[in-house]
Amino acid sequence: MVTSSADQTRTIGCCIAPLLRAGDVVVVAGGLGAGKTTFTQGVAAGLGVTDRVVSPTFTLTREYEGRLRLVHVDLYRLDRAQEVLDLGLEDVADGAVLVVEWGDVAAAYLAPEHLEVHLAAGSGADDERTIAITFRGRSWIPRADSVAGAIGAA
Ligand code: ADP
Ligand code: MG
Repeated sequence: MVTSSADQTRTIGCCIAPLLRAGDVVVVAGGLGAGKTTFTQGVAAGLGVTDRVVSPTFTLTREYEGRLRLVHVDLYRLDRAQEVLDLGLEDVADGAVLVVEWGDVAAAYLAPEHLEVHLAAGSGADDERTIAITFRGRSWIPRADSVAGAIGAA
């Protein structure tokens, strides 16, 4: 899909949030400035998080309380990302929703079952972004229609 503002990208994240369950992993991919943190802000809002969600680039992980606990990780600085990966992300995020920016670079460390959200600059105006969502693993198949429906209603 295509969005033409940061708020529209947040709305898409927000619409997916009700479908998330404890233990889910969302991999957010795309270059610097593509909108990964912006998308995550939408997911957080949809989970009922009221704290401001900021990039975890320098803190590696940030946690928020909402309907579910949200663990937000950014693996951009791969040298330090190794520290997080050594912690065992699945353990850190046990019982939470785990959202991993640049998660595509560490796919081998993440659950094979995850939602992959890929953001990229659009071909038009500066604020245009394309968002592609891929369902990885069988557990997402029953929810695929609901996700598509939620986005369609956004
Ligand atoms: P990333 O985490 O991928 O590096 P950020 O979400 O931190 O990217 O930054 C994206 C920037 O692009 C923000 O300043 C945001 O306001 C801006 N932006 C403009 N248009 C969009 C859009 N359609 N979707 C997401 N972000 C957008
Ligand atoms: Mg970011």
